[in-house]
Amino acid sequence: MSDSTNKPCIICVAITGSVPTKADNPAVPTTISEQLESTQEAFEAGASIVHAHVRNEDETPTSDPERFARLKEGLLKHCPGMIIQFSTGGRSGSGRERGGMLSLKPDMASLSVGSNNFPTRVYENSPELIDWLASEMLEHDVKPEVEAFDLSHIFGAVRMHKEGKFSAIPYVQFVMGVKNAMPVDREVFDFYVKTLKRLLPGGEWCAAGIGAGQIVVNEWVVAEGGHARAGLEDNIRLDKDTLAPSNAALIKRVVDLCEKYERPVATVDQARQMLNLRPAA
Ligand SMILES: [Zn+2]
Repeated sequence: MSDSTNKPCIICVAITGSVPTKADNPAVPTTISEQLESTQEAFEAGASIVHAHVRNEDETPTSDPERFARLKEGLLKHCPGMIIQFSTGGRSGSGRERGGMLSLKPDMASLSVGSNNFPTRVYENSPELIDWLASEMLEHDVKPEVEAFDLSHIFGAVRMHKEGKFSAIPYVQFVMGVKNAMPVDREVFDFYVKTLKRLLPGGEWCAAGIGAGQIVVNEWVVAEGGHARAGLEDNIRLDKDTLAPSNAALIKRVVDLCEKYERPVATVDQARQMLNLRPAA
């Protein structure tokens, strides 16, 4: 047991992503109105961060700032105080297109700080693009959530922090279970946590597991004092034979784990404070 196990647990809902479609699970929200409805349910279930991608009408991913703007406007109205995090991930655009929505000043944005393989392609993040995305986040007061698909990405985040490329200690997420990147492995997870605590003392961290690994990683983070992410972006099932009926249903599983490990679920105000974010708009 660590000393931080009774601190509030911040739960992030990853509502849509770039990959799953309604053919995979009809509950995946792909229009703005579906995204708002699904996020509101997850918010009411306990999520304090929404991690969002946007889609075109045909469900293909896009980085269209106009769609992000409409989503943000609706979220401010329907989920008051909720932390809005936009994805700058590489499946929805190329190069600087990926950061075209940062001027909308979401509270946070995801930031990859290195390259790795994805199931069928290279996830390419050049040093030049990483620095540009980080500088846009700095300029627009957007807190990065560093996506660590590999151990070297944790070191990359630490180096960028030392170089003054972030406004504060970055929030780091360990992503486990993407095919061809780091699998869901307990010893690696423990080493990630230990390394982060050594190199970024006082930094908050979270982790996400993909597919059947979602609930596994959810339990590890809740037990170890980290913060959790769940949602249809990463996992469309409750178990091998059952599709998740909603994002809220996946958030509910994390809330149940918080109860099991006696961790309060963070309110939006607590989450904003722990992550050094500006107060709710
Ligand atoms: Zn994402």
